[in-house]
Amino acid sequence: MKILFAGAGALGSRFAYMLHKNGEDVTLIDTWKDHVEKIKSEGLKVIIDGEDLGNVNIPIFYPEELTGQYDVVFVATKSMQLRPMLETLKPFLKETTKVICILNGLGHVDTLKEYINPENILIGVTVWTSGLGGPGILKAVGTGKTEIKQVSEEDVTTTKEIVERFNTAGLNLIYSDNVYQSIWHKAGLNCVLNTYCTIIDCNIGQYGSYSGNAELTSSLLDELVAVGKAEGVDVKKEVITKNIENCFDPKTAGLHYPSLYQDIKNGRLTEVDYLNGAVARLGKKHGINTPVCELITHLIHAKEEINGNK
Ligand code: NAD
Repeated sequence: MKILFAGAGALGSRFAYMLHKNGEDVTLIDTWKDHVEKIKSEGLKVIIDGEDLGNVNIPIFYPEELTGQYDVVFVATKSMQLRPMLETLKPFLKETTKVICILNGLGHVDTLKEYINPENILIGVTVWTSGLGGPGILKAVGTGKTEIKQVSEEDVTTTKEIVERFNTAGLNLIYSDNVYQSIWHKAGLNCVLNTYCTIIDCNIGQYGSYSGNAELTSSLLDELVAVGKAEGVDVKKEVITKNIENCFDPKTAGLHYPSLYQDIKNGRLTEVDYLNGAVARLGKKHGINTPVCELITHLIHAKEEINGNK
């Protein structure tokens, strides 16, 4: 089984490493020159839970160098990079290639459907985390699980085989009928914590220590829940609220600065258009007002633009 990771960043390289270590035929593509060159010359340096596991030689290419066709493709870009990546992937997909998408955010199924037969789209959501310690260095901690579901389910035999096979590498994939609810629940948490921490300039614990945090969270989630329900998803405000509150403790995620915060600080564009921006967009489609999400989306875009992020 030929497996391609379309994006060899934090999350992609972690799953690619796990599958490669388990004997799978894994290939990476990425456009980040320093990262690609480092992995080509020295292999991917892997540090997990503080332990240096050495350098691993996983084949990596620039997209223009890639040849062959693949049985499974993991798209592992940031949300705004998904469409250009799908354009890039066209020559490397077979009629039967399964494409796994576990990017954060909302609206990815619609984008994927423009390129891929719904029988071949495996949409999901992950609670694994990962990071990079510089070009060519995978630096990650802990474990996680990933829920996935085939978008159109006429025949799920191959998908179930993939789930079983990848789980022997420890990916902890769960075929789940509740994927859309889980996607919206994670998006809800990200819509609140990623953006408010960025705008306030604080970590998650500090957000939790603000006396008005419940009001800020609640007004945003009211919009997200209404739009999610209009989309046909049973989004539960109390579940998202509890998940958010569980992050406030310094022993869980309280000391953590969310990824969107880090993107702003490091001069990168953010995924806000696939979080609060997506809620606002879908709200318009259903005639639901989403002033909080619209304002937040503007404020994050203002930070990106004023900082010159790209
Ligand atoms: P990342 O920026 O580390 O990795 C994305 C990689 O894709 C980069 O190396 C980039 O160079 C590459 N890329 C982008 N466009 C490309 C193109 N056209 N061709 C080739 N390569 C391209 O991002 P990440 O942290 O791995 O996150 C990926 C997705 O997973 C995001 O949606 C993120 O929100 C989600 N996610 C991340 C984590 C985490 O802990 N990192 C956890 C859960 C979900």
